[in-house]
Amino acid sequence: MRPRLFVYGFFLLVIQSCSSPTPETNDEPTEIPRPNILFIMSDDHAQRAISAYTDELIHTPNLDRIADEGMLFRNSFVTNSICAPSRAAILTGKYSHINGKIDNLNKFNPDQWTFPEALQQAGYRTSLIGKHHLQALPRGFDSFRGLVGQGDYYNPKFVLNGDTLERETGYTSTIITDYALAELKRNAAAEQPFMMLYWHKAPHRNWMPDTSDLPGLLDKHYPEPANLRDEYSGRAAAEHADMRIANMFVSHDHKVTREYEPNDPGTGGATFWEDGPQRMAENFYRQIENLTPDQQRAYQPFLDRIGKEWQEVKGTDRELSWRYQRYLQDYLGSVKSVDDNVGRVLDYLDESGLAENTIVIYTSDQGFYLGEHGWYDKRFMYEESHRTPLMVRYPAAVDAETDNDDLVLNVDLAPTLLDYAGVDIPVELQGASLRPLLSGETPDDWREDIYYRYYQQMASFHRVARHEGVRDERYKLIQYTEAGFEGYELFDLQNDPAEMDNRIDDPELEEVKTRLLGRLADLKEELKVPD
Ligand code: CA
Repeated sequence: MRPRLFVYGFFLLVIQSCSSPTPETNDEPTEIPRPNILFIMSDDHAQRAISAYTDELIHTPNLDRIADEGMLFRNSFVTNSICAPSRAAILTGKYSHINGKIDNLNKFNPDQWTFPEALQQAGYRTSLIGKHHLQALPRGFDSFRGLVGQGDYYNPKFVLNGDTLERETGYTSTIITDYALAELKRNAAAEQPFMMLYWHKAPHRNWMPDTSDLPGLLDKHYPEPANLRDEYSGRAAAEHADMRIANMFVSHDHKVTREYEPNDPGTGGATFWEDGPQRMAENFYRQIENLTPDQQRAYQPFLDRIGKEWQEVKGTDRELSWRYQRYLQDYLGSVKSVDDNVGRVLDYLDESGLAENTIVIYTSDQGFYLGEHGWYDKRFMYEESHRTPLMVRYPAAVDAETDNDDLVLNVDLAPTLLDYAGVDIPVELQGASLRPLLSGETPDDWREDIYYRYYQQMASFHRVARHEGVRDERYKLIQYTEAGFEGYELFDLQNDPAEMDNRIDDPELEEVKTRLLGRLADLKEELKVPD
């Protein structure tokens, strides 16, 4: 595809140098139409909650279709495991220190290069439907319908091309999908190729499943991870973090209403606000009050049973197990809404004849803890949140039922899409096109290790010490830079995939440690990371 650009470039020169530019050309290529792009992203979706990766927790038949009919990336990672920075890395193809969106607190600079704008300039019709969470309105979209902030699970508010609209009635995953389908229909009728970001809110906290999925939800029971009761030996930053299921909000997270628990004992990662727990509880009560009468009728029996169960387990040795089940029921219930709705979109691509020439990407802005280390949330460079799902279907060029084990990153997505669209990849981009991998050919010089960095200040949500690190196929070295937590962790992922045994002082791994420290310094230099 890329040589075509040189052709365009040549004609541009001809046009600029001629006084009456009427070149006789057939410069519109006719061989293979440029692919459409449907980029589906969910929020906080762990690989373990997609059955294409593992069926231990949930069956996701629609999401699995993307992997079954395309490629599943088993080693897909983010560069900074938190929502808005990951979205910025995806849009810009650059790490946080270059695109400037280092944490959830600072503002994304909307005046910088993004791949949607590059595709728009190359003739694509571009749209964003759903959650973007970047505060600033991104450029480069012909049509933009974004959730306001984090958005609510029910009756959400959208911004349409800059104007905030009234609250809508219904379930957010479904409403986003209704808009996505309407946009796809407009795209199908247009001459030009399209690129649509169809970005879900679910399964972001506080996980409220669709009313149609509430019956039977409280009877579901999930296996506990072996390290649900992690005691964090040798991992001081992990011990300090406030993201344990044991301390989740009983109200906001577990859905226990005031009448069953007037004094929520949870800290929920929000104690940096003096009245954090109170605010979060109030937020939950507001969500319940904002339900329509029909939605409230569906929710009330569910809330009553939860409240009674809480009163039975509170303070007993069954409390943590109950909290874990309660968390997974809601989290996986929210994943189900994404799966159902993605199915509607895939069906439409089939019915409309768009499927063959549309690249479908499914990913998340990062992974998530589903009880591993006793946690929910993300941020740490440990596997569950360092990883993110990635599946790509493109029948015209990617073989069905293929797997890839190479180390790939969220910053690779922008160059990949430009590559397929025949648009020149700017040299400043820090990711690499996955197109060769998707064609089944990993280049000999493909990366062998990856750099990671988490920046958000400790005095904010979840109290996570700042850190950076390097991971290769087998080992991971993490360096904590936060005052009071300075130090290293080293894990052998082959023998300790759950990352419980910090072997930084193990003489057996002295060589590995030295090598990874060298790689960390080299990668920082390569990626222009300031000290
Ligand atoms: Ca997220």
